[in-house]
Formats: sequence, C-alpha cells, structure tokens
Amino acid sequence: MSEALGRLITDLGERSLYDSVSQCSRCGYCEQACPTYVATGDESKSPRGRNQIVRLMLEKKLDDPQAAMEALSTCLTCGACTTACYAKVPVVDIVLEGRRMLRGETHWLVRAACRLLATSPRLFAVLLKIGFLLKKSGLSSLGRPALRAAGLSVLASMDEHTAESPFWNLDDLTHKRETPESPAYRYFAPCGPRYLFPRVGLATMSALDELLGKGAYLDNPCCGLLAHNYGELSDARELARKNIEHAEKSGAEPIVGDCSSCVAHLKTYPQLFLKPEDADWRARAEAFSKRIKDAAEIYGACADRLPPGVAEGVETTYHDSCRAINPQGIRNQPRLAAKKAAGGSFCEMAGADACCGGAGAFAFVHGDLSEDLLKKKVGNIAAVQAGVVLTSATSCLIQLARGLRKYYPDARVLHLSEFVAGALEKKHGA
Ligand code: SF4
Ligand code: SF4
Repeated sequence: MSEALGRLITDLGERSLYDSVSQCSRCGYCEQACPTYVATGDESKSPRGRNQIVRLMLEKKLDDPQAAMEALSTCLTCGACTTACYAKVPVVDIVLEGRRMLRGETHWLVRAACRLLATSPRLFAVLLKIGFLLKKSGLSSLGRPALRAAGLSVLASMDEHTAESPFWNLDDLTHKRETPESPAYRYFAPCGPRYLFPRVGLATMSALDELLGKGAYLDNPCCGLLAHNYGELSDARELARKNIEHAEKSGAEPIVGDCSSCVAHLKTYPQLFLKPEDADWRARAEAFSKRIKDAAEIYGACADRLPPGVAEGVETTYHDSCRAINPQGIRNQPRLAAKKAAGGSFCEMAGADACCGGAGAFAFVHGDLSEDLLKKKVGNIAAVQAGVVLTSATSCLIQLARGLRKYYPDARVLHLSEFVAGALEKKHGA
C-alpha cells in the first residue's frame, strides 16, 4: 500500500483526512459541475460519491475495494467540484488520498520514471531523446502492439496521442542564455515545455523578458507532480526539497512556470510537510510557494502592455486548464491578455472551463471517457468557428492538438505564451 498524507490543508485550515471528508454534507450541489458524473450519471463517479467512498474506507466499512478504485481512478482531479462547493471540500486531495490507501505497488514503469526524475534527470532526458528518435523514424508506432502485449499500453497510448518529438530540449536550447546579475524573474521549466514543447518555454521566456525584464533560467528539478499523483510521496518530497533548496540559492524574485498543473502543485508544497518533524521544511515550502506564479497570471497583469488587436483576423478562443481555474482561481487574467491582442477576433466558447479529458495520464488510461469529454470540447470550439485555441497546461496542449487533428483540423492549439510572444513580436514588426 502507498503511503498517504493523512492531513490536508483546507479552506478551514489544516485538518485530518477524516475531518476533511466530513466537511461534505452530501448536498449534491457539485454534481452537475463534475464531468465524469455528467458523462456517466453514476453516483460513484461523482464528487459526493467519491467523498463517501473515502469516508467508508476510513471507517473501515468499505466492502468492494475494486469498485472503489474504479470510482476514484476515473476522477480527473480537475477540482471543478471544489469550485462549485460552498464548503470548499478538497475533493481532489481526498481522492488522491483514497487512491494512495487503496493502491498496492505502484506500476514499475511509473516508479522508475519517478526515481529517474528524482535522481538522474540527465539520463531521463537521454532516454526521452531515444524515444523521440524512434518516434520520428516511425518505429515507435510499429512497436505499439508489442508494448500493449507487454502490459505497457500507457506507453503505447502516449506515443499515439503525441505528435511532437523534438530532439533538442529546452536545456539544450537555452544553455547559451546569459544569466543577468539581478534577474527580474526565474523561469521554472516544467517537464512538458522542457522536453515535449520547448517552443513553449522559449516563447514564455521571450514574453516575460519583455514584460518583466530579463530573467534567468532556473534549471530546476522536476516539480514531483507525477510522483505525488501516483502515490510515490517520498519521491515527491525529495523533489520538493530539491526545488526549494535550488530556489533558495537565488534571490526573492518571482519564479514563473508555464504549465498550470505543475505550477498549481508547486503552490501546494507546504502540504507535503505537515508532520511535526517537518516544521522547518514546511516554513521553507511556504516561503517558496509564495514566489510561484503562473505565466498566465503575469500576462493578465501586463495586458495593458500588449498591442491592441495585433492578432486580429483569426477567431481566437480560450480553454481553461482545470489546474489554473480551480485550485489557482486564474480565470480573468489570461482572457485579459488574449482579448487585448486578439481584439474583435476573441470569442468565448461554451464550456470553456470544462475539462478536455487530458488530465495527465487520464487520457491514456481511461480512453473512452476521455474521448467523450474531448468530443464535447472540440464541438464547442467548432461552434464558435475558432481558428486558434489558447490554453496554459501541457496535457491540454496534447489533448486538444489530438482532438483538433481528429475532429476539427481547421483550428490549432497554442500555449498562451506563444500567442503573447507572437503579439509582442508583431508589435516590433518582427
Ligand atoms: S463536495 Fe460540497 S457541494 Fe459536493 S456534496 Fe459535498 S458539500 Fe455538497
Ligand atoms: S475533481 Fe473533477 S472529476 Fe473529480 S470529482 Fe471533482 S469534478 Fe468530478
């Protein structure tokens, strides 16, 4: 069984897991906000149902662990329920705790990836390059049946869902970048922009350099979100400590990341250090978290510096990353920036804040449910005839790119950073 946290930081302060679950009055107000409940109509796949399952586990009254795991594993961890809930019940943390308590051994592949990210990120990068070379050569698609037969269907699905395979990662592309004496910000490179979408990381630094002043590449370790969500809490803590120590060597300038999932996780580091013996680390984690900013927040704050209507001409809409809008409350800021640069071409779509079904590895594991959510999302994009869809998280970029290729190739998805950097370039006539 994986280790669990046992205590959570909630809107009512630090509470035991049982007290957190008990905050749920089972009113059902959150049900219609939950994409998996709306898609299935199954109470066990609703926030209220999932809270109840964890409550039964804690009261040692659970009689069907397999059904419970199915209900908890199909949660997108989108957090839409907590946004809708008047009591702000922390359903995502409760679900993750339930998974940790039910899960046996973590899959060896996930464990190996977590260990590699924690101890040998350079080797991780080399292995990825080999994978991307295989993908470019077409060999990886030929190998998918073999991967599935070997029980590695997650790897086969990852290969199927991603179209990009850049050989040069963000570390390679920024190693000549100079570090200013007093950087205006530190760029935190999440694994998505670092390895899969280096163009996003470059765009973020280009936009932030102009909006905030020249910044520095932090060369950070992985944030630990994968380890956290898959129950490898000791790896998650190890990576959190490494990140905190690494950031403490710099000044007090903001640390800006451009994957909303990773940024949301960095902001919750204090929750990893609630044991009395971790009091020192908790204080350091709190100081670290206060420095963390989502690039989307910065663009909103600097929207008046963007050239008005410079990207006018192509209908442009915005898809909210769940981890930006729910735990971080980032709703208006990206729109301020997008509306400023797109001018009259910005159009709001229906269900912009509904999950696209990407949700980390969800799309690779729960294909049918993910596809239902994706089709609905692409339908909403097509309904406003958008040519460009903006977003702020890696798994949304992967999922929307796949959905648009498949169902609506008239549109393409861009990270908000690419859009903002492009608008600033146009301002300079580049
Ligand atoms: S999570 Fe909140 S909104 Fe949902 S049933 Fe419980 S108390 Fe009601
Ligand atoms: S996190 Fe999302 S999928 Fe999970 S229970 Fe809440 S609304 Fe439903």
